[in-house]
Amino acid sequence: MQGAFEEHVRALEGAGARTRLVRTREDLDGLDGIVLPGGESTTMTMLMERVGLLEPVREAIRDGLATLATCAGMIVLAREITDGMAEQKGLGLLDIGVRRNGYGRQLQSFESPVQIDGIAGEDGKDGKEGKDGLDFPGVFIRSPLVERTGDVKVMAIHDGHPVAVRQGRIVALCFHPELTSDLRLHREFVRMASSR
Ligand code: GLN
Repeated sequence: MQGAFEEHVRALEGAGARTRLVRTREDLDGLDGIVLPGGESTTMTMLMERVGLLEPVREAIRDGLATLATCAGMIVLAREITDGMAEQKGLGLLDIGVRRNGYGRQLQSFESPVQIDGIAGEDGKDGKEGKDGLDFPGVFIRSPLVERTGDVKVMAIHDGHPVAVRQGRIVALCFHPELTSDLRLHREFVRMASSR
């Protein structure tokens, strides 16, 4: 509906997937996976609600549609949202609590390497993954701060806070792999989405 969807399209296609923009509930038919991009979570949920997508998307993800959420997408999925707009509604499916723009004014946007666990990589082809996980360039732009985690697997921590979590077939990131030329996380997502 809004945000960095073109960048995800480019990354997913680079990772070998076919893509479709989801603008109506019919667009959900037959998908193996969905990306909730970065952007502005309040605008996204408002638009999704307006076109009648909020409930169908919630159902699809609850029923196991593989989901990659980045930044605002993570906020849209989160069970609790602090510092959201009044009555900011989300999907409430991911068992975390986030604070919008929680990295504070001077740190609103920054880049930092992130160590990601639980990703096998591709037999060393990408170079950097070893037993410590994947060393990934993290681009953070007015990112949500994860303040609570429930029944999720924390895949990466930065400065004492989770920045990548997984819950079943949902992967949610505070940072933006689609704004880098590094396709490893998108490839991993395509692999997850196509194995069912
Ligand atoms: N701060 C934005 C929000 O609240 C998220 C920023 C982003 O997606 N880069 O939705």
